[in-house]
Amino acid sequence: MQFLSMQSSHNPYEACKLCPRTCGAQRNVGKIGLCGATATLRVARSALHFWEEPPISGEMGSGAIFFSGCPLRCVFCQNQQISQGNFGHEITVQRLAAMMLELQQQGALNINLVTALHYAPQVHDALCMAKKAGLVLPIVCNTSGYELVSTIRAMGDVVDVWLPDFKYASSTLAYKLSGAKDYPEVTIAALEEMLAQVRTRGTRVVGDNGALTTGIIVRHLVLPGHIEDSCAVLDKLWELAGNDIDISIMNQYTPNAHCRAAGGNLARALIDEEYEVVLDYADDLGFEHMWWQQGGTVSESFVPEFDATGVEGPELSSFSRYLAQSSS
Ligand code: SF4
Repeated sequence: MQFLSMQSSHNPYEACKLCPRTCGAQRNVGKIGLCGATATLRVARSALHFWEEPPISGEMGSGAIFFSGCPLRCVFCQNQQISQGNFGHEITVQRLAAMMLELQQQGALNINLVTALHYAPQVHDALCMAKKAGLVLPIVCNTSGYELVSTIRAMGDVVDVWLPDFKYASSTLAYKLSGAKDYPEVTIAALEEMLAQVRTRGTRVVGDNGALTTGIIVRHLVLPGHIEDSCAVLDKLWELAGNDIDISIMNQYTPNAHCRAAGGNLARALIDEEYEVVLDYADDLGFEHMWWQQGGTVSESFVPEFDATGVEGPELSSFSRYLAQSSS
């Protein structure tokens, strides 16, 4: 299955059903969906990023493009300024394609699309344009995991590495923290599709530091007070894929203003003992491709400054002219 291009007669934003919310927003006439997006691309930052897993960031950095809006809208979101505050600048598909080529010129190891799939048709178009214009970097798709199989399938021809979260095994917790009680089964179905794509491609090296990835790195952020659910997430991942995936178990939970005000477990950082229980559990299950974080649990350095760095600039046509001139 393919998206119909935004240039085709069918506009996928007419009654949007791109994500599991299937809210039907008429984004093509300027209405805003539950994800906070209209049909116009909005991007908050495009820059080298050094805080992803070693195969993704390597030494040179990942070329991360942070999109505004998000269908999941977790209460504890670490990027609320862009996921729910809608910070970002409006751009065209041509500009998005040029942005990818700029990151390639800056030495990025890959193009890392961060929470992009509520704009999937335009992102797909931009990737195709950029590839035609000389983009050769691997494409990483960084997602909350809460995606439709049809969307994952439609992006399969342009994405090389999937970087999904698997946040919750409990539908009760998923409902409480993200208003999405279907998160576990929806995400497992999306992971199955990613896994099927990756299995047909085989293992690949992505890092410039020799770090290997299977082509799918499933992330799990351990939440304070919820280690039982973290262990249940690991059970489900082991059952689903065993060592055919990499897992990344993260301790970087940082309480945002909303969680600090609400009190309870989510108002505090993860404690070392909680993190160790989850890491030991993963180890006992038998995961061999596993990334974890060292150092203090609360570090806002993992959250870049959202100041529209790299967003404004030339459209693809003028960028391609500039490239042709500088190489002649
Ligand atoms: S992508 Fe946004 S507008 Fe489309 S269905 Fe999901 S929440 Fe609604």
